[in-house]
Order: sequence, then C-alpha cells, then structure tokens
Amino acid sequence: MRGKTQNLIWNREAETMPPQEKRQIQLQRLQQAVKHAYENVPFYRRSFEARNLTPEDIKSLQDLERFPFTVKTDLRDNYPFALFATPMKNIVRLHASSGTTGKPIVGAYTRADLDLWSEVMARAMAAAGITEKDIVHNAYGYGLFTGGMGFHYGAEKIGATVVPVAGGFTKRQVMLWQDFQPTVLACTPSFALVLAETAAEMGINPPKELQLRVGMFGAEPWTEQMRREIENSLGLESFNHYGLTELIGPGVSSECIYHNGMHIQDDHFLPEIIDPETGETLPPGQSGELVFTSLTKEAFPVIRYRTRDITSLDPEPCPCGRTTARMNQITGRSDDMLIIRGVNVFPSQIEAVILNHKDVVPQYMIVVDRVRNLDQIEIQVEAVDDLYQRGEQKLQEVSDQLQRDLIQTLGISARVVIVPPRSIARSEGKAKRVLDRRNLA
Ligand SMILES: [Zn+2]
Repeated sequence: MRGKTQNLIWNREAETMPPQEKRQIQLQRLQQAVKHAYENVPFYRRSFEARNLTPEDIKSLQDLERFPFTVKTDLRDNYPFALFATPMKNIVRLHASSGTTGKPIVGAYTRADLDLWSEVMARAMAAAGITEKDIVHNAYGYGLFTGGMGFHYGAEKIGATVVPVAGGFTKRQVMLWQDFQPTVLACTPSFALVLAETAAEMGINPPKELQLRVGMFGAEPWTEQMRREIENSLGLESFNHYGLTELIGPGVSSECIYHNGMHIQDDHFLPEIIDPETGETLPPGQSGELVFTSLTKEAFPVIRYRTRDITSLDPEPCPCGRTTARMNQITGRSDDMLIIRGVNVFPSQIEAVILNHKDVVPQYMIVVDRVRNLDQIEIQVEAVDDLYQRGEQKLQEVSDQLQRDLIQTLGISARVVIVPPRSIARSEGKAKRVLDRRNLA
C-alpha cells in the first residue's frame, strides 16, 4: 500500500517557502499576534505586564521565550468567552472539546479563522494524496468536537466528495462502504479498528472488496503496531494528523507520503519544544512538551500554549519538497504519564509492547490501583479470535510472555490478563485506555 500515493502540495508557496523567508513571515505575524492578544484580551495584557513585557519586546523569534506560557487551567479560568479577542458579532462558530473533568475548552472562529481552518485541512488532505476525485467517508464526530467539521471543510475545499457519516451505527457504516465505495476514511484510529472488526464480522474483506486507499487518523495517540493492524485489515495507507481545539482543531500538522513525522503548518502555528519541568526551550531534535503560538488567528489567539503533548521537532527539509518543520508522533501526554512505583511510563509505551505480540489485538485497558500503599498495574488485553480454543495453558503462556516483555522494555512489573475477543468496551471517539483508581479512594 505504501508508495502508491502521489506527492501533492496544496499551497506550494506557503509549504515550500525558503527557511529564511519563512522566519521573516513568522516574525511579522508573531509581532501582530502578540499585539492582537495584548490589546484585546485582558488575560494576556495582565500576564505580559506582570513580567514587564509589551508587544514591542518581540524583536526576534527568540524573544518569544521571554513571554509567559498559557496553560489549560488559564482556559478553564476564563471559560467560556473571556479569552476571545474579537466581539461576538464577528464570531461565526463555536466548538468545544469534551472535557473529561470540569468545563470544556471553547474554540471560537471568525470567518477568516474558518477559511484558515479549511486551508490547513486542504493542505493536510492533499499531503495524503487526496484529490477532487476522492470520496471521503468522514466518521469523525460532527457537532461540538472539531474533527467532523474540520475534515468536512478541508475535503470540500479540495473538491472531494464528502460523506458526513459521523460516529456510531457501525454496520450501516460498513454497508455504506460497500455501496458508496469511498476511497478515503477519516476517523480516530480506535474507531477505524472498530469498523474493521465490524466489516470482518459481516463477512467482508475490505482489501479485496472495497476501494479504501487512504486513511486519515488522529485525535488520539497511536502506535506503529496499531497503524499496521489498521492498514492490513482495511487495505489502505494511513496518514497521521494532529490538532487541538485550543489551536483550531485538526489541521495543525499532518504526514506526507514519506511518513517521516507530521508537517506543521508553521506559517500559522509556531511550535516550540520545552522541558516540561523547567519550562526551558529545547533545541531541535530533543524530546519535550510541545508549545504553540497561533500566528494568524483572530477570534481565539493563543500565545505559548502548553499542549502537554510530548514529542520532538525535525527542521530538516523533507523529500516531498515541503520546508515546514516536522513533529514526531506524540509519545504521550505530560499529564497522562503514569508513575508506577516511581517509574515513569506512558500508556502508548505499554501499548507498543503488548501489540508486538501476535496473539493479542490492539484493544486493551490499563488499570492502576494502590494496594497496601503499593502501586499495582493490571493490563487487560484482548485475545485474537482463536486463542481461547488453544487452551488454558496457551493463555497463560501469552500473559507470561507479555509480563516478561513489560519488565524487560519498560521496567514495570504488571499483571497481564488476557480477556476474550470483543470484551473491552469500544469507543466511537477517543479511546479510554487508562483507569487510574489510585485517586478514587
Ligand atoms: Zn514531507
């Protein structure tokens, strides 16, 4: 499946701009963005003034390092509208992220912001080889969540045909695959697996019977193993993408056909990598927390927003011709890092270990508990279809092997429980993989 997708660039001028010119444009836009936030959002004015900073202090891109970070709690404290920089009469759309705790994060868009969003989504989809000839089965959630609308407008801008199917009704979705023969699937990777499973249950062999050739997956961390599983079961080439409501939604960065990291639309979103402990800016290549400043957004600008996502940046040019900085796959969220008996571990690292094993499938749940003041971790992972028929002893062997692998690669000693196929709750949006009971007592 790899290597069959054509190398397309939607906005050649912006995406292949020489680095020197790019930095100049970024600086001009950064000066305007900081001024816009300072003049129109009391929160930014106060936080800049507390450090004796004004927009005039941005004389180079490096000067941004002197400015304070914006964190998620700042957004919650200013819920719902206090961080908006334009009057409501100029705002034409609101979105919100599903806050698992407390109030959601609210995103606001002027007409120009919506145009920007369509533009960066068109860039992302063209980078995956999508053209006006494609039929896009969009199974991202529509509504407050940004996924559905983001892909919808990007695909329409390219001129592709959009099927706005959203989540749920998995059998009907597979029926539509058979009838409409879409060439592109857009959804979360966990939902792609659910759809693949449903197709198999319905006796359909997607690589043979369907036309799907491109998958646009993101909105949650996923591993290379999960990618192979999805690609093999659906017969498509998958493209990772990244975004967040705080910035715009999907469209912040995405893979090209070389799959060597996600190209950041850095003429609109300026990335930095910082040490999550000290806040110090790290040089390219080093892994740390991703921070973004929006350069052109009107309604809801963000200055140095800490995403909590852990990754690294690669500024080297890509064989595709783009000169935009690339970010590597998110290896975890600084706030969903688990600390198990003093060992730092991300759920995605656990996933990578268990999915290396051919007798289990990428459906799992990590349960963390504290028993007699000791952290205990149990990983429930689903067996492949015929594992249970191979007997009790085989089940034990698989779980023993996984336990050994976890100790050897991550240094964590976990109880691994193999559970029957399809026994772990499926999600239509972002999968919930961790149940931390330690704070529930
Ligand atoms: Zn590239």
